[in-house]
Amino acid sequence: MTPSPRFVRGRILSFRDDPRLVGERAASLIEDGAIRIEDGQVAAVGEARAILAHAPPDAAIDDHAGKLVMPGFIDAHIHYPQTRVIGSYGAQLLDWLQKYTFVEEQKFADPAHCEAVARFFLDELARQGTTTAVVYCTVHPESVEAFFAESERRGARMIAGKVMMDRNAPPLLRDTAQRGYDESKALIARWAGRGRLGYAITPRFAVTSSEAQLAAAGALAREHRDAYVQTHLSENFAEIAFVKRQFPWAKTYLDVYARFGLLGARSLFGHCLHLEETEVAALARSDSIAAFCPTSNLFLGSGLFDKQRLDEANVRVALATDVGGGTSYSMLQTAAEAYKVLQMNGQSWPGFQAFYQMTLGNARALGLQSRIGTIEPGREADLVVLDSRATPAMAHRMESHDGDLSEELFVLMTMGDDRAVAQTYVAGRGVKGG
Ligand SMILES: [Zn+2]
Repeated sequence: MTPSPRFVRGRILSFRDDPRLVGERAASLIEDGAIRIEDGQVAAVGEARAILAHAPPDAAIDDHAGKLVMPGFIDAHIHYPQTRVIGSYGAQLLDWLQKYTFVEEQKFADPAHCEAVARFFLDELARQGTTTAVVYCTVHPESVEAFFAESERRGARMIAGKVMMDRNAPPLLRDTAQRGYDESKALIARWAGRGRLGYAITPRFAVTSSEAQLAAAGALAREHRDAYVQTHLSENFAEIAFVKRQFPWAKTYLDVYARFGLLGARSLFGHCLHLEETEVAALARSDSIAAFCPTSNLFLGSGLFDKQRLDEANVRVALATDVGGGTSYSMLQTAAEAYKVLQMNGQSWPGFQAFYQMTLGNARALGLQSRIGTIEPGREADLVVLDSRATPAMAHRMESHDGDLSEELFVLMTMGDDRAVAQTYVAGRGVKGG
């Protein structure tokens, strides 16, 4: 028995390709469209008239007239244990870690705490229209267990991993090279590829790992080709100087990761702000991904991401919140801040490019474009429904809107946040209450 299908009606917007390369024809909009969802997947999409003509008489139809229905947002870099650190005053990266983050992360030795925070975090992502995220847990395997168990219960597509740290962190947050390897290996065996879950091997950054630990992370990456690698790179000048002191043989920061086999098409490097030319070239050569985290880079005073430089060098880029260094869970607000960062460097970022990046662009960065990031038959039915008139100020602004879609998207990202997210669907199920 197949369960009866669900129908979602609205203005269906999905990207076919990168607007930076192919222009406005990258976007596909059906003004009065509908999606037929079966078993958590898109079974059909098209004009509402045609799709709904085949609806059974008792079919569930969610009518989002006038609102945009898009693929759910994808956040390429976020820390779930930092939900109570967000908005911590007055520090740059290394002090911020010591003063706030490393204190908070120690609480994740307690599985009950992990479970409670995982529930809050996944609720919040759903409220913001984010349906997939690449997530740092803490050094405690319990934090990963709790996160994956809760994600699985919700049927959400999530990628996460245990932080590996064996030096320059408080004793209670340290593993060892061997323990970090063993615990990561056991978590991969238990969770990687289970349902919609993926694993990311997660040495936090070169500052907090010994050479033995980075070698262990590289061994894990070789032994598990489907796993991702996530870490931080070139965020802050004090951090870069520290790494160069700690690894005197390395010509650049990225050299440290390269030496241990951590570059590649499934490797995500958070920040990438102050790169040397050879680092840009090495990221491009290895197909590695640079995660652009604008609210975090501004909040911690780290620097301005040079997207044009990376685009021109053919480095793959993803967009991310980096909560709790980042200050918003909202991918809309993150895109707005990305636009401002690029403005400071004389670079542009139209609405089409931003919404492409949050959906298909980030899906491609993760190699998941055959599963998520677009609305077409066979894709998983992760969707966000957006209201461009969600607040009085947005409705007022939209009164002067002349129907141009790129402009509407730009207003949505500049003025929108969770209030503009009318509904979120995870595998075809509406998850934003009310
Ligand atoms: Zn981060």
